[in-house]
This record gives sequence, C-alpha cells and structure tokens, in this order.
Amino acid sequence: MPGHDTIMFDLGTGSRYLGIERGVEPFHADCFVSHLHWDHIQGLPFFPPLLRPGNRLDVYAPRPDGHGSVADVVDTILCPPLFPVGVTDLPGEVTFHDLGNQEVQLGDVTVSSRYIPHIGRTLGYRVEWNGLSVAYLSDHQQPGVDVYDMCPGVEALCRDVDLLIHDAQYTRDEFIARSDWGHCTIDYAIWTGKAAGAKQVALFHHDPTHDDRMLDQVASVCGRHCTPNVVVAREGLTIQLGA
Ligand SMILES: [Zn+2]
Ligand SMILES: [Zn+2]
Repeated sequence: MPGHDTIMFDLGTGSRYLGIERGVEPFHADCFVSHLHWDHIQGLPFFPPLLRPGNRLDVYAPRPDGHGSVADVVDTILCPPLFPVGVTDLPGEVTFHDLGNQEVQLGDVTVSSRYIPHIGRTLGYRVEWNGLSVAYLSDHQQPGVDVYDMCPGVEALCRDVDLLIHDAQYTRDEFIARSDWGHCTIDYAIWTGKAAGAKQVALFHHDPTHDDRMLDQVASVCGRHCTPNVVVAREGLTIQLGA
C-alpha cells in the first residue's frame, strides 16, 4: 500500500526473512497476530529490525483468556532461562495491543478482527484499503469431517474479498485422524472462499509433513479452479492486488 507502513500478519519464522529484506532502513510495522501459539510468535525475538534503536513494532493479538495481557504472556516466554533477554531489552520498541471483535483504523486502512474457531482465543483479520480487501484466517477449525459451514465472524471477514489467505493444513484422510486439532482440509479452505465470494484463495499453514512434491500436486489440482482462483502459498510469494 503506497504511503503506508508495513502491515504484517503473525510473527512466525517467515518474519525473519521480511526483516532481513528491509536491511537497515528505518522500520515500523503494525503486526496482527492471529493467536499466541508458538508457530505464530516464535519469530519475534529473532526479528532483525528490533536489533536497531528507533525501529518500532506494534503487535496486535487476541486478549488472552485469564492470563493477563498479551504483553504479560510474551514476558513469560521471553525471559531467562528460555531466552537471554526480555522484549524490553531489545533495542527496538515493541508495543502490544490486546484485541477482540473490533475495527482498527490505520490512516485510511481499516483492519477488522473477529474471533474464529481454533484452539484457544484466535482472531481472523480483514484489511480494507482503497476498495481492495484481504482476509487472513491462518488457523481455522472445520466443524467436522465433510462438514461445510462457517460462523458469522468468518463470513464477515471473508465476504467478497480480493484475496483470502486460509488454513489448508490437512488432506481429508489426515483430518479424519485429527479433526479436533484446530485446523481444516484443503477442500474446506477452497469451499470457504467460494461460499464467501472470495476472488482468490491462497492455501496457507501447510502441514509440516507436506513436502514440495506434495504441494506441487495440490497446486496442479487446485490450479484448475476458476472461481475462486486458488494458489498454494510459499515463502517469498508476492500477490499483487489492484492495478
Ligand atoms: Zn494454533
Ligand atoms: Zn498455527
């Protein structure tokens, strides 16, 4: 978005590559974290921009249930002996914001957050700017095997988006064995996009056992979809929206 600071989703290992790419230029980003499971926050202490004074990171995440604030939870995992320093010891400045079902206005960018089904409090997000929209639902519990339904919050986030980035952790057989692990099938991700009128779906949050060969097969099958257009997300992928 020209003229805007960076908007990030989650702080997984991929955030390190973003930080390295930005080099030594002054950095500020608003980062919307879906939930506080390890795979979504473990990149925070290794985020290169935070090693330089003057850089800032605003982190938005779901208000924890009975565990204090987001900042309190992060303090419990970024401290000795688990890690040599705490967040406040980093040269860059991190500010935490607790979120629920709400809207956050960043200039002329609107970010909507809604609770979505997973394990523990989890938010999905929708970003709208200049007539374009992106929804991000990284971890989304499918209601059951071969059950295709979505809650009102998911519907609100995904309705008519230009791009839906969605959990696609399991094949149907894998989901049968792990149907209460907080995730969904590839088919469910595509169904959600189609039912909500999304123009494009990026399959995301691949199971760690899904290697490149397997994901290439998924891409070749899903690539036949016209509505919505389906792509398999990978590290470094760029999707341009608008003119
Ligand atoms: Zn999770
Ligand atoms: Zn996850």
